[in-house]
Amino acid sequence: MDYRGRFAPSPTGQLHFGSLVAAVGSWLCARHAGGKWLLRMEDIDPPREVPGSANAILAALPAFGLVADEPVQLQSQRKAAYDDAFARLRRIGAVFPCWCSRSELAASGPHRDGRCASAPDPGREPAWRLHTPDIDIAFDDALQGPQRQNLRESAGDFVIRRVEGLYSYQLACVVDDAYQGITDVVRGCDLLDSTPRQIHLQRLLGLPTPRYLHLPLALDAQGRKLSKSTQDLPVDPADPLPALRGALGFLGQLVPADAADAPEVLAAALSRFDPTHMRQRSGCFVI
Ligand code: GLU
Repeated sequence: MDYRGRFAPSPTGQLHFGSLVAAVGSWLCARHAGGKWLLRMEDIDPPREVPGSANAILAALPAFGLVADEPVQLQSQRKAAYDDAFARLRRIGAVFPCWCSRSELAASGPHRDGRCASAPDPGREPAWRLHTPDIDIAFDDALQGPQRQNLRESAGDFVIRRVEGLYSYQLACVVDDAYQGITDVVRGCDLLDSTPRQIHLQRLLGLPTPRYLHLPLALDAQGRKLSKSTQDLPVDPADPLPALRGALGFLGQLVPADAADAPEVLAAALSRFDPTHMRQRSGCFVI
């Protein structure tokens, strides 16, 4: 199957250095494989969304030379598909309703036995959790090597649909990776431990499992993850070259000195792209 990769930011702030690394890394892998690079805006969580940030991210990417091959997909328009997937999980008895409040959960610890610890309350909408089996999920990460996780121990009975009716990142991500025909997921190492949950959901829903490559994570001097939510280091689309060169250097790639603009920098980096060099930064806790 032809390579189809993607970048899937959440609109929780400006494009920052950490997400630029994921965007550039996924773009380089896709282009190196002669494949397509797609964009998905993961705007399924209105309470966490920073107004204007979806548009700001989408406007910033082309300034860094990153242009998607197909129209951007918005998760906010995909509710019907998530409803279908959720209905299927209900049909096969894979999910259960949960009325536990946050404080009850804090007291009881994560759910692990496929049922809610509180009494059903017909007057309130429940959250819906996946009944997580006691199985190991293993996969081979193209950069981080062989991975194995006991799903029940690590993830517990994780939420699929929240009380407000919003679907979880895990469900939306697997439904959309399949819908967009993604063959290769290249993203930050902060999502490495979500991958077994996603593989399990793919199996339950009869969806294909893509290959995975988790990029090293950009951390600040204090060892904290750079993320949109901490507003760390937003990159400047008006002056893209310093951050673009920084992202290439972070990925262990040769940084073209003489290229004049972002598309030229990317083209030069692509012509010398060596995926194995990303390994020198390998590991999830780098710099
Ligand atoms: N939307 C997620 C984030 O910005 C990434 C999802 C993914 O690449 O699977 O952290």
